[in-house]
Amino acid sequence: MSHDCLFCKIVNREIPSEFLYEDDTYVVFKDINPAAPVHLLLVPKKHIRSINDLSPEEGDIISGLFMVAKEMAREQGVNESGYKLLFNVEKGGGQEIFHLHLHLIGGWQKK
Ligand code: AMP
Repeated sequence: MSHDCLFCKIVNREIPSEFLYEDDTYVVFKDINPAAPVHLLLVPKKHIRSINDLSPEEGDIISGLFMVAKEMAREQGVNESGYKLLFNVEKGGGQEIFHLHLHLIGGWQKK
């Protein structure tokens, strides 16, 4: 855990947040500033700064994250309409919170 990391504080329940999903490795909660009707953040509990900092041993965390994403998309009812999965990496890539997380974004009106 990193003591000045917002997502570590959320993971450790020092800052209240409603988890839509939790297991030993991940938590999922709604983005506070949603970019779409469905905007979830899928967050490994382990503090990893960004994709750049992943070690080979941590690869399973990423594959597991996609399995959680698939399940959350189904639960949120966007699996068939479609959704985006996004990692922002470092400042130039739009990352603001330096604790690895996957955005699940969807739920736009179908035309
Ligand atoms: P990123 O730009 O990829 O680092 O994404 C960070 C995301 O965290 C942004 O979309 C923010 O809206 C979101 N965010 C910041 N603070 C909170 C919070 N306390 N609870 C939920 N989402 C947050």
